[in-house]
Amino acid sequence: MTTPTHTQALRVITDAEDHLAENYNPLPVVVARGEGSWVTDLEGKRYLDLLSAYSALNFGHGHPAILAAAHEQLDRLTLTSRAFQNDRLGLFAEALAALCDKDLVLPMNTGAEAVETGIKVARAWGYRVKGIAPDAATVVVANGNFHGRTTTIVGFSDDPTAHDDFGPYSAGFVSVPFGDAAAIEAAIDENTAAVLIEPIQGEAGVVIPPEGYLRAVREICSTHNVLMIADEIQAGLGRVGTTFACDREGVVPDVYLLGKALGGGILPLSAVVADRDVLGVIRPGEHGSTFGGNPLAAAVGLRVVEMLESGEFQTRAAALGEHLEARLNDLVGSGVTAVRVAGLWAGIDIDPGVGTGREVAEKLLSRGVLVKDTHGQTIRIAPPLVVRATELDWAVEQLRVVLAG
Ligand SMILES: *Cc1c(COP(=O)(O)O)cnc(C)c1O
Repeated sequence: MTTPTHTQALRVITDAEDHLAENYNPLPVVVARGEGSWVTDLEGKRYLDLLSAYSALNFGHGHPAILAAAHEQLDRLTLTSRAFQNDRLGLFAEALAALCDKDLVLPMNTGAEAVETGIKVARAWGYRVKGIAPDAATVVVANGNFHGRTTTIVGFSDDPTAHDDFGPYSAGFVSVPFGDAAAIEAAIDENTAAVLIEPIQGEAGVVIPPEGYLRAVREICSTHNVLMIADEIQAGLGRVGTTFACDREGVVPDVYLLGKALGGGILPLSAVVADRDVLGVIRPGEHGSTFGGNPLAAAVGLRVVEMLESGEFQTRAAALGEHLEARLNDLVGSGVTAVRVAGLWAGIDIDPGVGTGREVAEKLLSRGVLVKDTHGQTIRIAPPLVVRATELDWAVEQLRVVLAG
């Protein structure tokens, strides 16, 4: 094991600046190792990772059980394409379907692909089952949404940075205020195939809808024969203290979109999960992905699902979330204007008098805490679900010091 030198570290940074497209503006830290809730930079400085790759690292860096599944599969078989069957995919699909209490799983790679797949499924269902006139199907979405970065998806984003200059945009989307079930009902007509929402809006700053919203959306969708599609890519898989964020209101959507943590922090793995009367509309050849459902991803995904079966991580997220919420609420009025917490997931609005979210993130970085700003004044934290209460306390103390200037 060779330790990279300081010169090498600088070299990496310089190379990144010279040859990487600037589609991100990363904080100035070069991470070289990760274990559990902690990462280490090239110079050996340790940081508590409170972002968890936007919830893709729900189980922390290098969780031994997930690593073991990956190593075992890596040596045996990694890729077949879906032209052939492989001996892992069926097991993964069976386990994930059971976790979701649904019939079928369609595996893809990235979250955006799961969303795209969900839209295709909804449209095909709209024409073939609901009887919508050809090319007339619409999907109702929510203002402030984040569903990924493909050309179709950015077309219905209202974030100018995500949206502007990437048109022409796909037709067939109607956007209404988030948290307003009546607005969804008003937007539905005979051509509506689906309502696509995040049960909690992550990128928007962990925006939690009013209690009863998800139940109302569920009822409206059932009444009007419209599919309820829940984008649980960031909110799901234990993050909010339940397996899915929809569980908080006892709601079962028609379609789950999953990603991020499904890949165990090791590889991209996403899935669309629904019952046969919905997902069964897709016929052979109509949709696919070269890497989707590959045996390495399936082995990792199977282990992730097994880890979620006992409820241990969900319980942990719920308990630690309450702990975190109490600590963060103490900061309101002292450099923080508002805090929104769901399980182990928080949006913290920074008082502009203290600085921007980015400035707070940079100061926290220098104190060994990794967070990410969003939309100017908000910092979002999503610690690995394996984090300790004492580590959260320490991190909140660093935030208190930064806010005090
Ligand atoms: C991250 C995210 C996506 C997109 O996932 P990618 O893997 O980055 O394509 C979609 N929806 C939500 C809610 C997300 O947080």
